[in-house]
Amino acid sequence: MQKGKEHSGEYIFRTVRDYIRSIDSSINPYLALFGCSDEVTGSADAARASVFGGFGGIFTTRIIGSQIFYQQIQIATSRGHRSNVFEVNVHIGEIIEDGHKVYGALIGRDGHRRATCGALAHVLDDLHRNPSEAPNISRTEDGEVYLDFLGTLKFRLRPHFQEILAAENQVVAITKINLDVQVHDLIHQLQRIIAKDPSHAPMFVYGTIAYNRTAQPDTKSLEYFYALNGPKPDQVVNLLHQV
Ligand SMILES: [Zn+2]
Repeated sequence: MQKGKEHSGEYIFRTVRDYIRSIDSSINPYLALFGCSDEVTGSADAARASVFGGFGGIFTTRIIGSQIFYQQIQIATSRGHRSNVFEVNVHIGEIIEDGHKVYGALIGRDGHRRATCGALAHVLDDLHRNPSEAPNISRTEDGEVYLDFLGTLKFRLRPHFQEILAAENQVVAITKINLDVQVHDLIHQLQRIIAKDPSHAPMFVYGTIAYNRTAQPDTKSLEYFYALNGPKPDQVVNLLHQV
Protein backbone atom coordinates (compact mmCIF):
# COMPACT_ATOMS: atom_id res chain seq x y z
CA MET A 1 0.00 0.00 0.00
CA GLN A 2 1.27 3.43 -0.87
CA LYS A 3 2.32 5.43 2.19
CA GLY A 4 0.03 8.40 2.73
CA LYS A 5 -2.65 7.41 0.20
CA GLU A 6 -6.18 7.96 1.52
CA HIS A 7 -8.64 5.08 1.72
CA SER A 8 -11.66 4.19 3.80
CA GLY A 9 -10.73 3.08 7.31
CA GLU A 10 -12.40 -0.27 6.71
CA TYR A 11 -10.19 -0.96 3.67
CA ILE A 12 -7.01 -0.23 5.63
CA PHE A 13 -8.05 -2.32 8.65
CA ARG A 14 -9.00 -5.26 6.40
CA THR A 15 -5.73 -5.05 4.48
CA VAL A 16 -3.72 -5.12 7.72
CA ARG A 17 -5.77 -7.94 9.24
CA ASP A 18 -5.77 -10.08 6.08
CA TYR A 19 -2.02 -9.67 5.63
CA ILE A 20 -1.32 -10.79 9.20
CA ARG A 21 -3.62 -13.79 8.74
CA SER A 22 -1.90 -14.63 5.44
CA ILE A 23 1.47 -14.92 7.24
CA ASP A 24 0.08 -17.46 9.69
CA SER A 25 -3.62 -18.27 9.90
CA SER A 26 -3.19 -19.42 13.51
CA ILE A 27 -2.48 -15.81 14.58
CA ASN A 28 -5.56 -14.20 16.12
CA PRO A 29 -5.13 -10.45 15.66
CA TYR A 30 -5.99 -8.92 19.04
CA LEU A 31 -6.03 -5.19 18.35
CA ALA A 32 -4.93 -2.47 20.77
CA LEU A 33 -5.69 1.08 19.60
CA PHE A 34 -3.83 4.19 20.76
CA GLY A 35 -5.88 7.18 19.65
CA CYS A 36 -6.53 10.79 20.65
CA SER A 37 -9.18 11.77 23.22
CA ASP A 38 -10.33 14.81 21.29
CA GLU A 39 -11.25 12.91 18.14
CA VAL A 40 -15.03 12.64 17.98
CA THR A 41 -15.51 9.48 16.00
CA GLY A 42 -18.17 6.95 15.25
CA SER A 43 -17.70 5.36 11.85
CA ALA A 44 -13.99 4.56 12.33
CA ASP A 45 -14.63 2.72 15.58
CA ALA A 46 -17.49 0.81 13.92
CA ALA A 47 -15.20 -0.18 11.04
CA ARG A 48 -12.46 -1.33 13.47
CA ALA A 49 -15.01 -3.36 15.39
CA SER A 50 -16.33 -4.99 12.22
CA VAL A 51 -12.80 -5.99 11.12
CA PHE A 52 -11.04 -6.81 14.42
CA GLY A 53 -13.94 -7.12 16.88
CA GLY A 54 -14.55 -10.77 16.04
CA PHE A 55 -11.28 -11.63 17.79
CA GLY A 56 -12.59 -10.68 21.22
CA GLY A 57 -12.93 -6.89 20.98
CA ILE A 58 -10.47 -4.01 20.92
CA PHE A 59 -8.25 -2.70 23.72
CA THR A 60 -8.54 1.09 23.50
CA THR A 61 -6.48 3.90 25.00
CA ARG A 62 -7.27 7.50 24.16
CA ILE A 63 -4.93 10.17 25.49
CA ILE A 64 -4.58 13.68 24.01
CA GLY A 65 -2.07 13.62 21.16
CA SER A 66 -2.39 9.79 20.79
CA GLN A 67 0.44 9.34 23.26
CA ILE A 68 1.97 6.00 24.12
CA PHE A 69 2.64 5.12 27.74
CA TYR A 70 4.26 1.98 29.08
CA GLN A 71 1.52 1.19 31.61
CA GLN A 72 -1.20 0.83 28.97
CA ILE A 73 1.09 -1.27 26.78
CA GLN A 74 1.85 -3.52 29.72
CA ILE A 75 -1.84 -4.10 30.42
CA ALA A 76 -2.66 -4.57 26.72
CA THR A 77 -0.02 -7.28 26.38
CA SER A 78 -0.69 -9.03 29.68
CA ARG A 79 -2.54 -12.30 30.08
CA GLY A 80 -6.24 -11.97 29.43
CA HIS A 81 -5.72 -9.23 26.82
CA ARG A 82 -2.68 -10.51 24.93
CA SER A 83 -2.77 -7.72 22.31
CA ASN A 84 -0.47 -8.49 19.38
CA VAL A 85 -1.56 -5.88 16.84
CA PHE A 86 -1.18 -2.21 17.71
CA GLU A 87 -2.58 0.79 15.88
CA VAL A 88 -1.43 4.33 16.59
CA ASN A 89 -3.95 6.71 15.06
CA VAL A 90 -3.46 10.47 14.84
CA HIS A 91 -6.02 12.79 13.29
CA ILE A 92 -6.26 16.06 11.38
CA GLY A 93 -9.27 18.14 10.38
CA GLU A 94 -9.85 19.05 6.75
CA ILE A 95 -12.03 21.90 5.50
CA ILE A 96 -12.48 23.01 1.90
CA GLU A 97 -12.18 26.81 1.64
CA ASP A 98 -12.42 28.53 -1.75
CA GLY A 99 -11.81 25.20 -3.41
CA HIS A 100 -8.63 24.50 -1.43
CA LYS A 101 -8.02 21.98 1.32
CA VAL A 102 -7.20 23.60 4.64
CA TYR A 103 -5.85 21.32 7.35
CA GLY A 104 -6.08 21.60 11.11
CA ALA A 105 -9.73 22.38 11.83
CA LEU A 106 -13.28 21.25 11.25
CA ILE A 107 -16.80 22.34 12.13
CA GLY A 108 -17.59 20.58 15.39
CA ARG A 109 -20.74 18.81 16.51
CA ASP A 110 -21.97 22.10 18.07
CA GLY A 111 -21.55 23.92 14.73
CA HIS A 112 -18.42 25.82 15.77
CA ARG A 113 -15.02 25.62 14.18
CA ARG A 114 -12.56 23.67 16.27
CA ALA A 115 -8.84 23.00 15.98
CA THR A 116 -8.30 19.33 15.04
CA CYS A 117 -6.17 17.79 16.49
CA GLY A 118 -6.78 20.16 19.42
CA ALA A 119 -3.82 18.87 21.41
CA LEU A 120 -1.34 19.33 18.57
CA ALA A 121 -2.79 22.79 17.78
CA HIS A 122 -2.15 23.72 21.39
CA VAL A 123 1.47 22.53 21.22
CA LEU A 124 1.96 24.47 17.98
CA ASP A 125 0.49 27.66 19.50
CA ASP A 126 2.76 27.40 22.54
CA LEU A 127 5.72 26.70 20.28
CA HIS A 128 5.08 29.98 18.42
CA ARG A 129 4.58 31.93 21.63
CA ASN A 130 7.55 30.57 23.54
CA PRO A 131 9.88 28.30 21.52
CA SER A 132 12.36 27.88 24.38
CA GLU A 133 9.76 26.85 26.99
CA ALA A 134 10.93 23.93 29.12
CA PRO A 135 7.93 21.59 29.28
CA ASN A 136 6.77 20.35 32.68
CA ILE A 137 5.39 16.84 32.74
CA SER A 138 3.51 17.39 35.98
CA ARG A 139 1.77 20.31 37.60
CA THR A 140 0.20 21.13 40.93
CA GLU A 141 -3.35 22.48 41.21
CA ASP A 142 -4.98 23.17 44.56
CA GLY A 143 -2.19 21.27 46.24
CA GLU A 144 -2.66 18.12 44.14
CA VAL A 145 -0.13 16.83 41.64
CA TYR A 146 -1.29 15.93 38.12
CA LEU A 147 0.49 14.38 35.18
CA ASP A 148 0.44 17.08 32.48
CA PHE A 149 -0.38 15.29 29.21
CA LEU A 150 0.22 18.43 27.17
CA GLY A 151 3.62 18.67 28.86
CA THR A 152 4.52 15.05 28.02
CA LEU A 153 3.45 15.66 24.41
CA LYS A 154 5.67 18.77 24.17
CA PHE A 155 8.51 16.89 25.79
CA ARG A 156 8.38 14.17 23.15
CA LEU A 157 8.04 16.58 20.24
CA ARG A 158 10.71 18.94 21.50
CA PRO A 159 13.61 17.40 19.50
CA HIS A 160 11.57 18.09 16.34
CA PHE A 161 10.52 21.70 17.00
CA GLN A 162 12.88 23.20 14.40
CA GLU A 163 11.70 20.78 11.75
CA ILE A 164 8.06 21.58 12.53
CA LEU A 165 8.63 25.35 12.42
CA ALA A 166 10.55 25.07 9.14
CA ALA A 167 7.81 23.06 7.42
CA GLU A 168 5.69 24.55 4.65
CA ASN A 169 2.54 23.31 6.41
CA GLN A 170 3.23 23.18 10.13
CA VAL A 171 -0.08 21.51 11.04
CA VAL A 172 0.53 18.64 8.63
CA ALA A 173 4.17 18.42 9.77
CA ILE A 174 3.41 18.21 13.49
CA THR A 175 0.75 15.54 12.79
CA LYS A 176 3.12 13.33 10.79
CA ILE A 177 6.06 13.85 13.15
CA ASN A 178 3.92 13.03 16.17
CA LEU A 179 2.77 9.78 14.55
CA ASP A 180 6.39 8.90 13.79
CA VAL A 181 7.45 9.64 17.38
CA GLN A 182 4.61 7.64 18.97
CA VAL A 183 4.94 4.65 16.58
CA HIS A 184 8.67 4.34 17.21
CA ASP A 185 8.28 4.75 20.95
CA LEU A 186 5.69 1.97 20.89
CA ILE A 187 8.03 -0.30 18.89
CA HIS A 188 10.79 0.36 21.44
CA GLN A 189 8.48 -0.55 24.34
CA LEU A 190 7.11 -3.68 22.63
CA GLN A 191 10.61 -4.91 21.85
CA ARG A 192 11.46 -4.58 25.55
CA ILE A 193 8.45 -6.79 26.31
CA ILE A 194 9.53 -9.34 23.68
CA ALA A 195 13.06 -9.34 25.13
CA LYS A 196 11.65 -10.34 28.51
CA ASP A 197 9.25 -12.92 27.07
CA PRO A 198 9.97 -14.07 23.48
CA SER A 199 6.58 -15.83 23.30
CA HIS A 200 5.06 -12.39 22.58
CA ALA A 201 6.59 -12.35 19.08
CA PRO A 202 5.48 -11.76 16.44
CA MET A 203 3.76 -8.47 17.14
CA PHE A 204 2.50 -5.99 14.58
CA VAL A 205 2.43 -2.19 14.68
CA TYR A 206 0.70 0.07 12.19
CA GLY A 207 0.22 3.83 12.13
CA THR A 208 -2.65 5.72 10.54
CA ILE A 209 -3.69 9.33 9.95
CA ALA A 210 -7.43 10.03 10.07
CA TYR A 211 -8.65 12.93 7.94
CA ASN A 212 -11.68 14.25 9.84
CA ARG A 213 -14.35 16.09 7.88
CA THR A 214 -17.74 17.40 8.79
CA ALA A 215 -19.96 16.70 5.79
CA GLN A 216 -17.90 14.19 3.81
CA PRO A 217 -16.87 10.83 5.26
CA ASP A 218 -13.48 10.55 6.94
CA THR A 219 -10.58 8.87 5.16
CA LYS A 220 -7.43 7.29 6.53
CA SER A 221 -3.91 6.72 5.30
CA LEU A 222 -1.59 3.91 6.29
CA GLU A 223 1.77 5.48 7.15
CA TYR A 224 3.59 2.60 8.91
CA PHE A 225 3.22 -1.17 9.11
CA TYR A 226 5.82 -3.32 10.85
CA ALA A 227 6.22 -6.86 12.10
CA LEU A 228 8.27 -7.22 15.29
CA ASN A 229 9.82 -10.67 15.11
CA GLY A 230 12.14 -10.23 18.09
CA PRO A 231 13.94 -7.73 20.32
CA LYS A 232 16.81 -6.82 17.96
CA PRO A 233 16.75 -3.81 15.60
CA ASP A 234 17.00 -6.04 12.51
CA GLN A 235 13.94 -7.99 13.68
CA VAL A 236 11.68 -5.04 12.88
CA VAL A 237 10.40 -5.76 9.36
CA ASN A 238 8.77 -3.05 7.27
CA LEU A 239 5.59 -4.51 5.72
CA LEU A 240 4.20 -1.33 4.16
CA HIS A 241 5.24 -2.16 0.62
CA GLN A 242 4.17 -5.80 0.92
CA VAL A 243 0.46 -5.01 1.33
ZN1 LIG B 1 -6.47 15.07 18.90
